[in-house]
Amino acid sequence: MKVPFLDLSLPHDAIRGDLDLAWHRVLNRSRYILGEEVEAFESEFAAYCEAEHAIGVANGLDGLILILRAYNIGAGDEVLVPSNTFIATWLAVSQVGATPVAVDPDPSTYNMDPLGAARAISSRTRAIMPVHLYGQTADMAELRALARRHNLICIEDAAQAHGATFEGRRAGSLGDAAAFSFYPGKNLGALGDGGAVTTSDTVIARQVRELANYGSREKYVHRLQGVNSRLDELQAALLRVKLRHLEDWNARRRAIAATYCADLADTGLILPQVDPRAGPVWHLFVVRTEQRDALAAHLERAGVTTQIHYPIAPADAEAYAGAPVAGNSQLGRTLGREILSLPIGPHLRDDEVQHVVAACREATSPPRRAGIA
Ligand SMILES: *Cc1c(COP(=O)(O)O)cnc(C)c1O
Repeated sequence: MKVPFLDLSLPHDAIRGDLDLAWHRVLNRSRYILGEEVEAFESEFAAYCEAEHAIGVANGLDGLILILRAYNIGAGDEVLVPSNTFIATWLAVSQVGATPVAVDPDPSTYNMDPLGAARAISSRTRAIMPVHLYGQTADMAELRALARRHNLICIEDAAQAHGATFEGRRAGSLGDAAAFSFYPGKNLGALGDGGAVTTSDTVIARQVRELANYGSREKYVHRLQGVNSRLDELQAALLRVKLRHLEDWNARRRAIAATYCADLADTGLILPQVDPRAGPVWHLFVVRTEQRDALAAHLERAGVTTQIHYPIAPADAEAYAGAPVAGNSQLGRTLGREILSLPIGPHLRDDEVQHVVAACREATSPPRRAGIA
């Protein structure tokens, strides 16, 4: 049996009729930029995230950059970021001229450790940018309190956490502002690139919207040196269809995660730990073992595709060789050698999940020696 890591054709096939209708609606209306689909998606997504405002942007990285710019964070400023994240979190900080300061994770949740964050604060720190990694919200109670004590902006990188909660509140409403990605493989994915910023701060919402549209609120009146970073009508129309299925898809991810957690509990693999205050949406299901490469090879032979998120800590990326970075990436580095992401998502059938379980159990069972009972 072959178990793909990701297969978007299955969930899309199930809603093909509605996707077709959405596409034809846009084609018939013949308006492609900043029209009613984007407007409707923004209000639907804001409501979903329990935030006052959502602003469609071109992708998740731009969302993070636009938030930093809206808060006037730039050269000379420091922003705390996880040592173990997709490099986009760091690139956003570097892009505005600020310095990313790495904070190692809590080894049980892989999310930013609030004590480490507290130690990393300097007189130049302007913001904390936790990532809700793998779909589990970071410890927003502690991180928000830390931000408040030090007068820092708290920005959520929610690119992996559409629908995740912390103490009952949705990602996207847990900090001052949040960026989401609609890259196709995310829990809510467009059929191309897309992103959104959510915030309940009206001034920041207006600033992000303006910056993303050439620094303009009124045609040909340019108050700011903005960029062109917009969600287009077609992606917004398709995302509106997919948003209606997100709860079901996240529920399916939760069910698969529950099966993995129960059926792999006695294998010696280190399984993901859930903070009791968090309601994760399982963008990824990441196991940890010192025998990671052997496990990955065994699964590969069994037809199970796995990935590593992420093998190289941003601090060790060539892009950051000689660049101003600070902080602590020790644990982030170790994790890069020991973690493995198993297939998870609405595309998986129960028998495929069981096949992954069986292959993991085989790989981790002690070798049988002939003649020894
Ligand atoms: C995907 C992702 C991003 C970037 O989103 P894009 O839409 O691909 O630009 C940023 N941060 C994290 C943690 C991500 O997983």
